[in-house]
Amino acid sequence: MRREPFGQTGVAVPVVGQGTWNMERDGRTAALAALRAGLDAGMMHIDTAEMYGSGRVEELIGEAIAGRRDQVFLVSKVLPQNASRAGVPRACEASLRRLRTDRLDCYLLHWPGRHPLADTIAAFEQLRREGKIHAWGVSNFGVEELERAAALAGAERVACNQVLYHLEERAIEHAVVPWCVARGIAVVGYSPFGSGRFPGPRSRGGRVLAEIAAAHGATPRQVALAFLVRAPGLFTIPKAAFLVRAPGLFTIPKAARAAHVAENARAGSLALSAEDVRRIDAAFPRGPWRGLPIL
Ligand code: NAP
Repeated sequence: MRREPFGQTGVAVPVVGQGTWNMERDGRTAALAALRAGLDAGMMHIDTAEMYGSGRVEELIGEAIAGRRDQVFLVSKVLPQNASRAGVPRACEASLRRLRTDRLDCYLLHWPGRHPLADTIAAFEQLRREGKIHAWGVSNFGVEELERAAALAGAERVACNQVLYHLEERAIEHAVVPWCVARGIAVVGYSPFGSGRFPGPRSRGGRVLAEIAAAHGATPRQVALAFLVRAPGLFTIPKAAFLVRAPGLFTIPKAARAAHVAENARAGSLALSAEDVRRIDAAFPRGPWRGLPIL
């Protein structure tokens, strides 16, 4: 499994991780087995949020990672309504308790909300100084919001921006990815399979994926994931003078079935050629900028 620097955290993280939204609906046994199989297969980045199952997913993860916390790159998110100066530490403590751990590797603001960003960041910084989080980041931030976070804290403090990214929703490539990559901020793409709406095998794009997959002895979904974590150097990056060390793109498919987990993990070592990338780019065009999409 390929690893890339996760922003400026100093940690190299596998490019394919594990999403966990709605996992409380999959049944405890299946969810635990899937998460553990994912870790065994190298998907050490586990993404969760206090919102997921109203805390029940964090509890499941706590159970799944018991005894192997040190191997995991654990990310959770605070809800915007809890992201006040006093609310963030409270929410973090509750997440840590449910996850049965004493620290998060990265803590994200789930999406921009009504509490002043300065307060949220001050609380993140306090948690970082206390060792309760190793780093913090944001989610569903457009360039304007990223500029505000960078002005408040310095871009180097923002470890990542987690945003919607799949073959049929490539809007982040217009500005968000170049902005983040130029400043060493990791881009974590969520819902890589369109949250359950993957291109069908008979669609034009589906046929292209199938052809590329066959040439690599891979599957269309593995090809899609490999495209989503392709080298950020393939993007046009303005202000490259800011670049310290280009962070990678990351993806966090959610899978509760063992076969899905195994398939997704193998995508982390699939290397596409420039011609493969060009064909996928043509089959799933980026389209015009219509604002930052959020799921
Ligand atoms: P997704 O990963 O795009 O799709 C999940 C669906 O794809 C599930 O139904 C899963 O089925 C299926 N699947 C997974 N691997 C498969 C495979 N190899 N073959 C066939 N089907 C497969 O959807 P998502 O859950 O929306 O997004 C992923 C993660 O991103 C979330 O879980 C969450 O952690 C994060 N996220 C973050 C935000 C945010 O605002 N920051 C928003 C949305 C999502 P099974 O489960 O049955 O295996």
